[in-house]
Amino acid sequence: MDSEPRRISAAEVAMEQMRIAAEHLPDVNPGILEKIKHARREVIVNFPVKMDNGTVRVFTGYRVQHNDTRGPFKGGLRYHPDMGVDEVRALAMWMTWKSAVVNIPFGGAKGGVQCDPKALSRRELENMTRRFAWEISPFIGPDLDIPAPDVATNPQVMAWIMDTYSIQKGRVVPGVVTGKPVELGGSLGRFDATGRGVVITAAEALKYFRMNIDGIRVVVQGAGNVGSAVARYFRLAGARIIAISDVNGGIYNDKGLDLEQAMVCKKNQNCFLKQEIEGETITNEDLLRLNCDVLVPAAIENQITYANAPRLRCKVVVEGANGPTTPEADRILADRGIYLVPDILANAGGVIASYFEWVQNLQELFWTEDEIVDRLARILTRSFQEVVAISEREKVSMRTAALMLGIGRVATAVELRGIFP
Ligand code: NAD
Repeated sequence: MDSEPRRISAAEVAMEQMRIAAEHLPDVNPGILEKIKHARREVIVNFPVKMDNGTVRVFTGYRVQHNDTRGPFKGGLRYHPDMGVDEVRALAMWMTWKSAVVNIPFGGAKGGVQCDPKALSRRELENMTRRFAWEISPFIGPDLDIPAPDVATNPQVMAWIMDTYSIQKGRVVPGVVTGKPVELGGSLGRFDATGRGVVITAAEALKYFRMNIDGIRVVVQGAGNVGSAVARYFRLAGARIIAISDVNGGIYNDKGLDLEQAMVCKKNQNCFLKQEIEGETITNEDLLRLNCDVLVPAAIENQITYANAPRLRCKVVVEGANGPTTPEADRILADRGIYLVPDILANAGGVIASYFEWVQNLQELFWTEDEIVDRLARILTRSFQEVVAISEREKVSMRTAALMLGIGRVATAVELRGIFP
């Protein structure tokens, strides 16, 4: 039995990662580093929502805008019962580094509402979303801050936000959010771009080790927007998905899962059931320790910790989720020779496709899916090569190399703009 993992907050993880990267950036002015440690603005709103039973409930929502030196704030909105400002701060900071690593003209932000979306009716969800959008509308906009989907939010939620914001402005403003339905100015290829991007970066990592994606064994934690697309694109590339899970646990079959059957079962039952899928049920903790080539954590933060890192049996970890690995676990994996492609590179496909959506909205000119997939792959492979080059030159992990690239670019931009006044 593992001992109970020591809880380390996402904010502590983000700060420790930044401290490690900063050690390798001796030329960056410490005052600039101090500035970019802090969020520029933190918005907390408490707002009432009429519930179906006639009562009024007050919800708390957040929007942390970490940095907009290189372009408007950008980042997802999540609905989760445990959300707090500390976690949102870390997620907002990671968005800043991510946009900079892949060199798109955005800063970083994150937000959401503390709630259990599964306990809300569709009408309550819409009321809550619209009122939240109204409350944060002075702080968002196509040239200010552009939200997108994250955990438990989706294109429909983005459509409600776009509508609420547009009504307030008295004109249609599609560019206020990305990840919208295609019918409302969403981009082709945006919905599964994060998962597609994870597989593109995983393929680059495998190439680096002269391994072929065809026939490799893949484990995916999380079967949401990111995890289910990761599984699908790995399978399309010839890999075998041997296990997949959601918050309730997962399903494992060493010969390879019937993915269609698994996803239908999950959709119908809201979980993976052994009787309906050939395989055995498995806990999330056991899933992380399966023998495989590639492990993709694609659920939430703090999953690979000092407690389970010694027992991982994969060759490569590709982070679909944001912040799934703690710094202690990073060190253990590195010592054990497990290669890790960090979140701010591996899951950047989502923000890259969001950038494409935003550009298309501003230009009112739409691209084909082929154009989008081609540009996405080019940006991700170029970014991967840039990070590998730093990692080899500086003899640091891929995470530290990616942070050095991202933080370095933001610091240079701050230096060039100067400190006002
Ligand atoms: P989602 O809500 O669609 O899916 C989350 C999945 O994780 C669900 O299957 C859920 O059951 C599972 N899950 C939740 N808690 C879990 C736990 N404790 N253990 C195991 N599984 C758990 O969310 P998503 O959009 O797929 O996001 C997943 C991760 O990817 C998050 O870290 C998010 O920040 C990150 N991410 C998302 C995007 C995007 O475009 N949606 C982009 C970049 C990064």
